[in-house]
Amino acid sequence: MQLTIRNLSKTYPNGVKALDDVSLDIPTGMYGLLGPNGAGKSTLMRTLATLQEADSGTAFLDEIDVLQQKDEVRRLLGYLPQEFGVYARISAQKMLDHLAVLKGFSNNRERKEMVDALLQRVNLWDHKKKAVSSYSGGMRQRFGIAQALLGDPKLIIVDEPTAGLDPGERNRFYNLLSEIGENVIVILSTHIVEDVRELCSNMAIIHQGRVQYQGEPHAATSALDGKVWRKSISKAEILDYQNRFHVISNKLVAGKPIIHILNDENPGDGFVATSPDLEDVFFSKILG
Ligand code: ADP
Repeated sequence: MQLTIRNLSKTYPNGVKALDDVSLDIPTGMYGLLGPNGAGKSTLMRTLATLQEADSGTAFLDEIDVLQQKDEVRRLLGYLPQEFGVYARISAQKMLDHLAVLKGFSNNRERKEMVDALLQRVNLWDHKKKAVSSYSGGMRQRFGIAQALLGDPKLIIVDEPTAGLDPGERNRFYNLLSEIGENVIVILSTHIVEDVRELCSNMAIIHQGRVQYQGEPHAATSALDGKVWRKSISKAEILDYQNRFHVISNKLVAGKPIIHILNDENPGDGFVATSPDLEDVFFSKILG
């Protein structure tokens, strides 16, 4: 299965160009769509999930025209939106059963088997009688994945699923996502570089509605080999360095800023070579 997106554009009525000629080839497996807030990720996810229209362009899931054959797409789609507002007071088990009814599963026995299997799969079996509204952030996201997996979807879209999770919850969520079959397409939209590093075999970086990079994460970093340099400086010096160099990141380590710069040759000035990571790629792309 392959999702082929060509020249997708979308401008909102307020003039914001959220998607600007986006073309992507998305194979099976976990695909990371990495971009800062406002990059256009949700717009792209909602368009692929048949929830909003593009102005122009095409998207094909194998032979299915995603923008036209919406019912066909919905039958194959599992979607966890950024704002998953189903924090019902009823139990997780009842809620999931209800969502399965809405998805068209009318056989009671089959539906119960599917719901119970999913609750076990996302590790909520012991909490199935509790109201979803009483769940922690991580449990809600796992419930969100359970509802996205109803009906064995072939295209799974999860929009910013790890935002707001603590490190333990994020790890549990990673494990769950990585167990989803290899023969389905999972698109994971995120502004967290670590999400993509941990999970994705292919990725794109999107910024201001445009695709800045697409390919394998390790290929992205190897393109920067020998070009990233690091130096520990004082806070007062940051502006000066930003004026003199192409600073791509600025991290505090033990209270002192460590900057990474992009430079084809050794800049001297006390900088040392450092091996590029995905974060360097991300910031070098979005900072131009
Ligand atoms: P992301 O998911 O990467 O944060 P979005 O797709 O939500 O990005 O937003 C892309 C841009 O489009 C942002 O500038 C956002 O403010 C704008 N935008 C999103 N939805 C709407 C809308 N319904 N009306 C107008 N502007 C919107």
